Amino acid sequence: MARVISGTAISGEIRAEIAAEVEELRQAGITPGLAVVLVGSDEASAVYVRMKARACERAGMLSRTIHLPADVGEDELFGVIDGLNADPAIHGILVQLPLPGHLPYKAVLERVTPEKDVDGFHPLNAGRAFVGDPRGFIPATPAGIMEMLRREDIPTRGKHVVIVGRSLIVSKPLASLLMAPGPDATVTLTHKHTVDLASHTRMADILIVAVGKPGLITPEMVKPGAVVFDVGTTRVADPSIPEGYRIVGDVDYEGVSQLVEAITPVPGGVGPMTITMLLVNTVIAARRKLEESRV
Ligand code: NAP
Repeated sequence: MARVISGTAISGEIRAEIAAEVEELRQAGITPGLAVVLVGSDEASAVYVRMKARACERAGMLSRTIHLPADVGEDELFGVIDGLNADPAIHGILVQLPLPGHLPYKAVLERVTPEKDVDGFHPLNAGRAFVGDPRGFIPATPAGIMEMLRREDIPTRGKHVVIVGRSLIVSKPLASLLMAPGPDATVTLTHKHTVDLASHTRMADILIVAVGKPGLITPEMVKPGAVVFDVGTTRVADPSIPEGYRIVGDVDYEGVSQLVEAITPVPGGVGPMTITMLLVNTVIAARRKLEESRV
């Protein structure tokens, strides 16, 4: 039976470190502040935003949520982002995705000033991550997976990492982090048009799945002894619990955990790390401001 890589436990350690660093920054006169812009009333997005706000407050950080109606105009949204860009109490800004279809999401993400873009989605920060320039921000989910590998002592040098999915939010930044000097992995990215997906996933020493299709990865698709990270989060109806739904990953956990060395559960795996690394990025942004003010 596989070792369970608990994102909840690793997050707990990191959040204690963050709280100590926040206290240090507060004593130096700066309280890290994160603003989250939520447009519309998508229930899953609202839940994520509340979780982020709560995590901020627990770490001693300032949290501000700006909730705008689903039919907000582009200009009004840009005005809100411009206000946050100029606000000295706010060090990190994120716009919760997905946005309603009438809003040009690329232009919205580009409106956030790169110094406060703690999601790392601005093209300047995406480019910095790609070229290994440490002035940017690494998107929270890939940063969380890198941190889990490090804290669990899972070697990546010379290992074959297969990532299922090629999104800008998770898979592409993760591929560039893993193949960089240091981690030194050999990386394969796969997607919807990959022919014979199983022939790739079976070669993985480390398999990372970020798709959003429950049950996509079955035991036959995994090499015995591999390490598996399941990023997928899909809500499935479950009338037997009070919430009425459960969150499930992309991997057949019961089957796959019988033959691999280690695996992340869903929930309690990659998910908690994402919020934690967002807090880490906000603390980094605040620390940079403090250092700037001392020059
Ligand atoms: P995304 O932008 O929807 O991308 C999904 C990727 O999966 C695409 O590249 C798609 O290929 C690929 N794909 C779809 N069907 C496939 C198949 N049958 N075989 C191989 N590849 C296939 O997703 P994302 O933003 O990366 O998110 C992926 C999942 O992770 C979602 O469930 C999301 O909710 C979850 N997520 C979780 C966290 C967390 O903190 N745990 C954070 C972010 C995302 P094409 O490019 O060819 O369409």
